Amino acid sequence: MTPARGSLIQRDRARLWHPYAPASPDLPLWEVEAADGVRLRLRSEDGEHHEVVDAMSSWWSAIHGYRHPVLDAAAKRQLAAFSHVMFGGLTHAPAVELAERLVAMAPSGPGRAPLERVFLADSGSVSVEVALKLAVQFQTASGHPRRQRFLSLRGGYHGDTFAAMGVCDPVDGMHSAFPGLLAGNVFAPRPPAAASPTPGSVVAWASELQAIAAAHAGELAAIIVEPVLQGAGGMHAYPAECLTALRQAADRHGLLLIFDEIATGFGRTGELFAADHAGVVPDILCVGKALTGGYLTLAATLCTDEVAATVSAGRAGALLHGPTFMGNPLACAVANASLGIIADGGWRADVGRTNAGLASGLAPARDLDCVRDVRTIGAVGVIELHDAVDVPAVTAAAIRHGVWVRPFRNLVYTMPPYISTAADVEQITAGMTAAVAEVHEPAPARSRGLG
Ligand SMILES: *Cc1c(COP(=O)(O)O)cnc(C)c1O
Repeated sequence: MTPARGSLIQRDRARLWHPYAPASPDLPLWEVEAADGVRLRLRSEDGEHHEVVDAMSSWWSAIHGYRHPVLDAAAKRQLAAFSHVMFGGLTHAPAVELAERLVAMAPSGPGRAPLERVFLADSGSVSVEVALKLAVQFQTASGHPRRQRFLSLRGGYHGDTFAAMGVCDPVDGMHSAFPGLLAGNVFAPRPPAAASPTPGSVVAWASELQAIAAAHAGELAAIIVEPVLQGAGGMHAYPAECLTALRQAADRHGLLLIFDEIATGFGRTGELFAADHAGVVPDILCVGKALTGGYLTLAATLCTDEVAATVSAGRAGALLHGPTFMGNPLACAVANASLGIIADGGWRADVGRTNAGLASGLAPARDLDCVRDVRTIGAVGVIELHDAVDVPAVTAAAIRHGVWVRPFRNLVYTMPPYISTAADVEQITAGMTAAVAEVHEPAPARSRGLG
C-alpha cells in the first residue's frame, strides 16, 4: 500500500462511497472532529472549524444526543463482558431484555393480538426483508401459496435492499434503475395530507384502497406502510384515520398489516409509535434508527404469536433468515439503555416542546416566495420548496448559521435530538430559514425597489 497523501477529505474521495453519491473527486464533504450533546464539530476542506447543531439526529437515530453518559456506560459495561457472540444456539441477557422491552412497549389494543415475538435484525432494511418474508411464509403456511406480492403506498420508503426497494414508491424510488428486479407489487395512492384533509378526502382514499386490495387479494401477502408519516419518500404526514382503513382492508382480504416504524418509532411523531395516533395494531412491526439512540446499527421485526406459530408450523419449519451479527450484544445493551431513557417518559415533553419551537420558528419561512409549504409533526419540521433544493449551497449556508441539515429533492427538513433545548431548536429553525432564503429567494426587496 502506498502511503496516504492529502487531507482526510481528499483521501476519502479517493477511496470511499457515500450514501446515494457518485464516486467523485468533487463530492462536498465535511470532517466530523467531535460530537457531544446536540452538537457536531466540523472541519471544512479549507481547514475552517464549525460548531453546528445536528438538526438531522444522524438520520433520525441520535435522539438522546452524542456521548450520552447512560448510553456510553451501557456500551462500556457490555464491552467489558463480551461484544459479540453468534445467536444460533446461543443467547444472552441483552437480547432477552431487549425483546421483553420491545414487546412491553409495542402498540397494543383491545381485541387485537399483541406483538409478542421479536426478530433482531442488523439494519432497518433487513428488518423490512424479514417482515416481508414473514408475511409470505405466513400465507404459504396458511394454505395461500399464491399470495406473494405486497400492497404499499405511493410515496413510501422502506429501505435499500431489493425486496424493500420493491415496496418503495415506484416512480421516486429506485424501480427505474432495476426494472427487471423490482416489478410485481401493487401500489395505492398516497393518503391525503394531514394538514388539509377535507372530510371526503380520507373516505375517498379509503374506498380506493379497498378497491385495489379487493382486486388483488388473491395474490397479496400483506400491506406495508409507514404509519402517519412517510419519511424519505417526501416527509408527508397523513391523517391517522387512514390507519383504520388500512387495518380494515387487511382484515377484509386476509392480508397481514405491516407497519414500518423505523423512522417514526420511539416518540418522534408525538406518540410512542405512530400507530398509537389511531390505536391501530399491526400484525408485524419494524423498528430501527433510534433503537440504539444512534450508537450502533440494530433493528427489529415484531410479530404476533399467531404469525410466529403459523410460520414455525409451515413446511419450511422456520423463519428463513439469520444474519451473522443477529442480536449483537453490544448493540442490544445500548438499545436497552436508550429504551430505558424512553421508558422514563421525558420524551413526550421533549417532543412537545420541540414541536412548538419548530412550528413557531419555521413559520416565517412561509413568507418566502420559494417556499411551497411548511409543516410539522411531533419533533419533525419541514420546509418544502417549489423547486429542487440546491443541496450543496443550502448545506453550506446552514453550516454558516451553525446548523447541520441534509436536504433532499425539494425538502429542507429537521428532526432534532429530543434533548434539544428551546434555544437549540430556535438555532435550527433560524438557520434553515436563513439558508433557504439566501440560496433560493430572488434578490431581496431592497434591491427590487429601494435602489
Ligand atoms: C431508514 C428507513 C428504512 C431503512 O433503514 P436502514 O437502517 O437504512 O436500512 C426503512 N424504512 C423506513 C421508514 C426508514 O425511514
